[in-house]
Amino acid sequence: MNLSKLIILSIIMLLTISTNAQLKRTAFVNGKIYTVNENQLFAQSVIVEGNIILFVGSDKDANKYINKTTKVIDLKGKLMLPGFIDGHTHFINGGFNLIGLKLHDLTSKKDFVEAVKNYVKGKEGRWITGGRWDHESWDDKTLPTKEMIDPFTQNTPVFLKRYDGHMGLANTYALKLAGIIKNTPSPEGGLIVKDPETGEPTGILKDNAMDLVDNIIPEYSDVGYSEALTAALNEAKRFGVTSIEDMSYTTDESFQNQLRTYQNFEKEGKLTVRVATRMPINTYEKLIKAGVEYNFGDNFITLGSLKAYADGSLGSSSAWFFEPYVSDKNNYGLPNDIFQNGNFEKWSLYADKHKLQICVHAIGDKAVSSTLDAVEKMEKENPNWDRRFHIEHSQHLRAQDIPRFAKLGVIASVQPTHLMEDGNWAEKRIGKERVKYMHPYNSFLKAGVIVDFSTDFPVVTLNPMVGLYMAVTRRTSDGKNPNGLEPQEKISIEQAIKCYTLNSAYAEYQENKKGSIEPGKLADLVVLDKDILTIDPVKIKDVKVAMTVLGGKVIYKAE
Ligand SMILES: [Zn+2]
Repeated sequence: MNLSKLIILSIIMLLTISTNAQLKRTAFVNGKIYTVNENQLFAQSVIVEGNIILFVGSDKDANKYINKTTKVIDLKGKLMLPGFIDGHTHFINGGFNLIGLKLHDLTSKKDFVEAVKNYVKGKEGRWITGGRWDHESWDDKTLPTKEMIDPFTQNTPVFLKRYDGHMGLANTYALKLAGIIKNTPSPEGGLIVKDPETGEPTGILKDNAMDLVDNIIPEYSDVGYSEALTAALNEAKRFGVTSIEDMSYTTDESFQNQLRTYQNFEKEGKLTVRVATRMPINTYEKLIKAGVEYNFGDNFITLGSLKAYADGSLGSSSAWFFEPYVSDKNNYGLPNDIFQNGNFEKWSLYADKHKLQICVHAIGDKAVSSTLDAVEKMEKENPNWDRRFHIEHSQHLRAQDIPRFAKLGVIASVQPTHLMEDGNWAEKRIGKERVKYMHPYNSFLKAGVIVDFSTDFPVVTLNPMVGLYMAVTRRTSDGKNPNGLEPQEKISIEQAIKCYTLNSAYAEYQENKKGSIEPGKLADLVVLDKDILTIDPVKIKDVKVAMTVLGGKVIYKAE
């Protein structure tokens, strides 16, 4: 070896040593660590180097990895789990909800005006929307008018909707931007409410008349998006959620805004949740042309999945069933048009051949069954690839369709928290017989189906403790099922934790990187203030997160 080669080699060695030395080591010791790794379910210590788990085992063995520079965190016997992975959220939209104007619970017109005034402060010039006000709960029960909010919104367009979404209050500036004047006629199916004396619009727009303003409201600004993401990230941290799948999209523009915001946060080191994104099924050609396949991206942001809708919801009686609704014998629900006109089959077969992952929203038993039929065709046309097809919600099933999930490798992506409310009135809609296979988690697991837990945040809270509680108790919020609605479908807390961690990781092709506490995986961890493995299951919903760790960094600590 000549001298120059020796010098280069020495430099490389020095560099390697110094980069290794720079990797920070953190030791979490003296804990009750439930790893979700079947080969080593329990441990006392986790050693993290950089963002990766280096060691999992006893406190005694962990000592070998601890030196003077290691940061040691005493877990004081608390329960540590892998960070929670929420498999279905509308994350940034949820953030907009968290920071938005909240008018729903006010009891007087005076409070309404005051709340709007306070909210507008510092946001002058930006569109102010949302609100969900309800004049029925105010003292005088009369509708608000633009004059009430005009004095402090001269240069700020405002459009605040009633909680039912059937009317909204616009201020003078918003009416002006929408071109609504005294002589503007009400559109078909809508009403521009006018003062009986002056004939001037009062600011209240009903039903289709709301479109006149809605159509001119621009997409949120970047400032809005980053504020919303910040709010959602704070929520995730305090609930121990370290990864999410984001199912949101409406327009190309909003999808771009969301993706750009995620990217900016990642670049700035502020993205404290790992994100798997989805695009609408009708964009499949764009992704294929760009050469994108499933699980494309890095440790923080992935894409390569498509989302489609097979039906509506139980709440609006539009979930698609084999038998009609009990409450309406002519209604079988509403299949999405792409399931009627053949587009879903055409698009999904093509996308599947190009190794894009597909997620379908299906709530009613017919919607679920029809989606499984489509997957059968995919399997025939394009056998033997690891497609990990999701059925989002998978809420109502025919018994015979449950084993089909397992046979086809279809993932049931479910939201246990939804059972809490839906369980109160489901029987009235679909009858006793069909309630038997509503959220049938135990039947799924016994049949060998991969079940992936989530919330559909902001439909319900992002808090995984509520979902775990529902999976193990099945107690509806009306208190009528203390032993659980269809108690045979309860699962164990260990099973539920796996659905919220390793199974969710599998659903996004990331089970080798996260979802359990094992050497070589990303150090995404959560410490709870109570031991949910041993406490009364009824108390699980009130358990709080003591600490959240993402990639080895403590991102949240309870006060
Ligand atoms: Zn959703």
